Amino acid sequence: MALQTAAQYEESLRKLKLKVYLMGERIVNPVDHPIIRPSMNSVKMTYALAHDPEHEDLMTATSHLTGQKINRFCHLHQSTTDLVKKVKMQRLLGQKTGACFQRCVGMDAVNAVDSVTFEMDKKLGTSYHERFLKFLRRMQDEDMTVDGAMTDPKGDRGLPPSRQADPDLFTHIVERRKDGIVVRGAKAHQTGAINSHWILVMPTIAMTKEDSDYALSFVAPADAEGISYIYGRQSCDTRKLEGGNIDVGNYNFGGHEALMVFDNVFVPWENVFMCGEYEFSGLLVERFAGYHRQSYGGCKVGVGDVLIGAAALAADYNGAAKASHVKDKLIEMMHLNETLYACGIACSAEGNKTASGTYLINLLLANVCKQNVTRLPYEIARLAEDLAGGLMVTLASERDLRHPEIGPVVKKYFRGVASVSTEHRCRIMRLIENITLGTAAVGYRTESMHGAGSPQAQRIMIARQGNLEQKKKLAKDIAGIKD
Ligand code: SF4
Ligand code: FE
Repeated sequence: MALQTAAQYEESLRKLKLKVYLMGERIVNPVDHPIIRPSMNSVKMTYALAHDPEHEDLMTATSHLTGQKINRFCHLHQSTTDLVKKVKMQRLLGQKTGACFQRCVGMDAVNAVDSVTFEMDKKLGTSYHERFLKFLRRMQDEDMTVDGAMTDPKGDRGLPPSRQADPDLFTHIVERRKDGIVVRGAKAHQTGAINSHWILVMPTIAMTKEDSDYALSFVAPADAEGISYIYGRQSCDTRKLEGGNIDVGNYNFGGHEALMVFDNVFVPWENVFMCGEYEFSGLLVERFAGYHRQSYGGCKVGVGDVLIGAAALAADYNGAAKASHVKDKLIEMMHLNETLYACGIACSAEGNKTASGTYLINLLLANVCKQNVTRLPYEIARLAEDLAGGLMVTLASERDLRHPEIGPVVKKYFRGVASVSTEHRCRIMRLIENITLGTAAVGYRTESMHGAGSPQAQRIMIARQGNLEQKKKLAKDIAGIKD
């Protein structure tokens, strides 16, 4: 059964026995928890749209393993067209959810692990690729959501994994057994962890020989013995406990991150894809990060579309839409947003085939894409706040709006143009607040900075891939300088 419905996905999550903690409490039913459920709805959309004839070309693909129709989130990119479609799919989902839909980390992880295990086996004579393909087939058949887990807590950033005061600050092998390995440590900021069936762990940095116990990649069921999750807080998250649907800004959708803890987790050999091969750790990081930096040229653009639409509506509702500076600010927002999209498309169109057959994005352009994402959404958000006006942060609550006595007062004084209800104006203000400062700001604002690697990580890659020597040569040729 290669394509699950949205309802089947939700039901499959109910069967998991995840150990989740949120605000000091163990959550036995994350699916229906009001703080968690909107993030599940976002992942659900990745299943729902795969059944929509209008979107199936972007949302589905043909498995190169089985020839079956599968969800694109389970697919290995077989061409540059696949890479381009991936970005378009992510923009679409950003538009439909206005939030992080989480499922991309697993897609990016399997694409990276595929080519790296293939190359590793070729060089070292290991047999990880076969194991990986067996897992991939299952992921495709069951239409799994897989959480790609890379970022270790890292402790003292000045020290390598093996020299940390606490050895668990990077996820590592504590025991090699006949039947498998035992793993301890944690992964931080894990997007969509509570909405995933399996997790795919990868190393977080390039390693040296001393750190070989940290050069580790494996898959495990999300509810495997010894794995627990501590749910990350988001700005304004407890508004979801209030029961209304205005103040939350985006009542239906959201994203989430969690700290994923491995307390002596046993992993059978068949699920291990790297175990001490430190020379390949950096390559896996580089490829996964590259794919995820490409992803941001899709998802952030889709959420940007929602934010631009909301800012334009705010201007309409304020009666300011005709002012030339307002029109110009909207043009600027669109220009910035499409610049990000152009980068996402460019790094995809310029992709190349790796030795395993899976296509990799152009790494230089993917890093340029993400570097722009660390900046432009901030300017888009600034302009949205400019157009919204101060009301987006001083507005009265939904309960005041609905109150029998003060409700009419709220409606009277928070009204903009007479043709638009105060409630609609409030909804748009809260949506802008949500994306720029509230729960979705995790996915749009700060994640634009740090998700898929902080700005400096891209600059290192740009330095490596930018080919400065060739540029010097060009200048010398034009200037008539002969060595
Ligand atoms: Fe997907 Fe974007 Fe969320 Fe990453 S941040 S999981 S690319 S939606
Ligand atoms: Fe992310």
